[in-house]
Amino acid sequence: MDSQLESRQRRRFMVQAAGATALIAPGITLMTIAQADQDQPEGASSSKRWGMLVDTNKCTDGCSDCVSACQQENGWGEGSTDESQSNPQQKAQWIRTVTIRDKQTGHTDQLPMMCQHCENPACVDVCPTGASMKRADGIVLVDKHICIGCRYCMMACPYKARSFVHEPLHDQKSNSPRGKGTVEACTMCVHRVDRGDQPACVEKCSSGAMMFGDLNDPNSDISKKLAEVDSTQIRADLGLNPGIRYSGI
Ligand code: SF4
Ligand code: SF4
Repeated sequence: MDSQLESRQRRRFMVQAAGATALIAPGITLMTIAQADQDQPEGASSSKRWGMLVDTNKCTDGCSDCVSACQQENGWGEGSTDESQSNPQQKAQWIRTVTIRDKQTGHTDQLPMMCQHCENPACVDVCPTGASMKRADGIVLVDKHICIGCRYCMMACPYKARSFVHEPLHDQKSNSPRGKGTVEACTMCVHRVDRGDQPACVEKCSSGAMMFGDLNDPNSDISKKLAEVDSTQIRADLGLNPGIRYSGI
C-alpha cells in the first residue's frame, strides 16, 4: 500500500510540477500560483483525531435528521440509484438509526450508527488493495479508484457500517464521488472537515445531540464534554477504539 501511495503522490507531484512550469510567465502568474497554494486546505495531521460524541438522551424516537442530512450532503439514498432490483439489505446506508434495549430494565434508546472511524480499523486490515485506509487524523475512507468490490471490509466491520453499490448511479454530488461495484461508508464529511466545517449530520441535528471535534485537543469542546460525562464506545471490547462516542447509554 505504501508503495502505491508513494507512486500516486509522485505522479500527482509531477503533474502539478508540469502544470506549474507550463503556466509560469513573468510576474503575475507566479503570484497567482503562490496565492492558489495558500488557498489549498492543509493536509491531514496526526496531531488531530477527529471524533464525535452523541448524547443519546437528546435523540428522540423517530427522528432521522442525521440520516436525511447525510443523504442530502453526500447524495445517497432514494433517487441516487436504480434500486428497484435491490432488497432493503442491499441499499446504501451511510448512517442509520438503531434502537438498543437494556435487557434488565427494558429501557430503549435510539442512536445514530455510522462508520465509527476506528483507530484500529478491521476494514483496513483485511483490504487486499489498500483502498480502505485511515488518514493521519483518524478519518477512515475508501479510495474508489482502487476498490475492487471484494467486500472483505464489509464482512470485517463489526458495526455493519459499509454498503456496496449494486446499481447504476445518478445525481451524484461532486464532493462525494461514488462508484458502482465499490464499497462506501460515512466519510465523516471529510470534504467539509477539511474546509473547517462540521459534518452535515452534526450541523443539521435539530436536538443538538451530536458534537464533533478533535479528541486529541484537551481544550476542544468535545474533549471537555467527554471529561464531564460518562461515555462509551459501542463494542469497546473489540479493541478497535472507535472515534464515535456515545453518552446516555
Ligand atoms: S466502523 Fe467498520 S468501516 Fe468504520 S473504521 Fe471501524 S471497522 Fe472500518
Ligand atoms: S459525518 Fe457526514 S458522512 Fe458521516 S454520517 Fe454524518 S453526514 Fe453522513
